[in-house]
Amino acid sequence: MSINKKIIAVDIGGSNIRVAITNPDGKIFKKISFENDGNKDISIATEKILYNILNIKEKNNILGIGISSAGPIDPNTGTYNHSPNLSSWHGKSMKKTLEQVTNLPVFFGHDATLAALAEVTHGEFKNSENLIYITISTGIGGGIIANNKMITGKSGSIELGHMIVNPGGEKCNIGCVGCLEGCASGPAIVNITKKLYDNYSDEDALKKMTNLDKKNLTTKIIFDAEKMGSDLSRKIVQDTLKHISTGIINLLNIFDPEVIILGGGVINSLSSYWSELQNMSNKRALPGHRKTPIKITSLEEDVCLLGASVLVTKETT
Ligand SMILES: [Zn+2]
Repeated sequence: MSINKKIIAVDIGGSNIRVAITNPDGKIFKKISFENDGNKDISIATEKILYNILNIKEKNNILGIGISSAGPIDPNTGTYNHSPNLSSWHGKSMKKTLEQVTNLPVFFGHDATLAALAEVTHGEFKNSENLIYITISTGIGGGIIANNKMITGKSGSIELGHMIVNPGGEKCNIGCVGCLEGCASGPAIVNITKKLYDNYSDEDALKKMTNLDKKNLTTKIIFDAEKMGSDLSRKIVQDTLKHISTGIINLLNIFDPEVIILGGGVINSLSSYWSELQNMSNKRALPGHRKTPIKITSLEEDVCLLGASVLVTKETT
């Protein structure tokens, strides 16, 4: 493999797509970002991605194209399977079009699994053989590297976000009752707060900060109000930490990883409660897992692009 060869990495989310030029060392040279609408046909996004890929291909010697995507997605065919954030893409794939037009190999992966792959290749815990990555933002997903292999399941997409952490609790968009996404994603935190809002005094800091109107609730205001002494926010923060730590404990006990790494917008808001989350998780796990580190990603928003890039290197060398 020529060391001058570059990789095209693509990160597809429900509302944004990013295309980047990378190299096998994990260096990102340039990133382009544009909007995506998963309610519109897949051909619209395919055309925009192709336009950017062809522009890059013209000026660079490209090894291949790696695509990290919100799932569920079959990584072999790139076919979507009832993806909640790409709802119009069900049963469709852009793989053939991309391969035919670019004449380059195209590799797909589930975004959170590729994030875990990026962590073991370029992250703070690189070279770990057992690592779990969890992203908590609008949705919740996760990827598992166990004994140096990506765990993909029979259909290519594992969905850690839908493990049940609070039986009988809130539902996610898909309808599972008490799953992690239904209890701890950004929209879930706002919805749960709305339901409890009227039970608290108008003097509560969160109610004052939202002008007594629950329509003004956002995850940021909820977390900010906790620091201003809001009882309602304190309850929400406690419950959120409990649900996330329950998920973490299940993963620690089942997979015995060297580290669990978390990323995503909600995790950034929770960073000031990190020792509380680590304590809640470790003290309820089995004794052998109590010292396992639980960390915030060092790769930040590039984690999925880097994972897509690593995938191409793995598949072509
Ligand atoms: Zn669910």
